[in-house]
Amino acid sequence: MVQVEPINAFDDNYIWAIRDTTENQVWVVDPGQAEPVLSYLKQHDATLAGILITHHHWDHTNGVAELVNVFSGITVYGPTQSKFSGITHPLDAGDTIHIMTLSLTIIRTPGHTLDHICYTNNTLCFTGDTLFSAGCGRLFEGSAEQMWHSFQQFSQFSDSTLIYCTHEYTSANLAFAAAVEPNNDDIKAHIAWVTTQRAKGLPSLPTNFGLERQINPFLRANLAHMCHQLPPHLACDTQRPWDNFSAIRAWKDEF
Ligand SMILES: [Zn+2]
Repeated sequence: MVQVEPINAFDDNYIWAIRDTTENQVWVVDPGQAEPVLSYLKQHDATLAGILITHHHWDHTNGVAELVNVFSGITVYGPTQSKFSGITHPLDAGDTIHIMTLSLTIIRTPGHTLDHICYTNNTLCFTGDTLFSAGCGRLFEGSAEQMWHSFQQFSQFSDSTLIYCTHEYTSANLAFAAAVEPNNDDIKAHIAWVTTQRAKGLPSLPTNFGLERQINPFLRANLAHMCHQLPPHLACDTQRPWDNFSAIRAWKDEF
């Protein structure tokens, strides 16, 4: 049986562990640190079988060298043409990999970075820093139009598809989402749930596409009312959804 479990890293990162409980094998997604992964493996008496990388940022990759040093010869999957040099098996859109009992297909999602990829099998999606709960990654390398088109690929997923993103930003993202849509009752309800979860020290993740389609301002940027609360200096043109997306992203950056 395969389970997906969070390993806490830094202040608000999750390194997702994909663990086969029968074989005691683990793959990790975006290990920005090695030490919490090694502790997790020791705790479960498990071996590291490989690593998945979504994009080149240091807080997703800095643990790779030490983990490869300890578990020599393991596979490191990651995007082709990445600035991160530790990838042993580069992947591009449409490639499928087999990890324990899972088959994961690659979608390219440029925007946060140009190399960003997500891993999905339709029941789950590892979205890295592309899509967060109630938010999305900053546009460090790509354009709003690129990110918007990346997001359109998520329309293939059913409401129940689970989203495993890399950061616990949900509370702050929801505060912004509520400013964008003050009358959205789904956002209010989710703020209450996340507040309770976090007070217990539990993650707000994974989330799912059904919920995100109701609360995430960046998945909802094409809706006309999403621009009504914008500050006057941020222009918004509902003719092109990525212009709305760009304006909402700019507001979030200064929120
Ligand atoms: Zn990043």
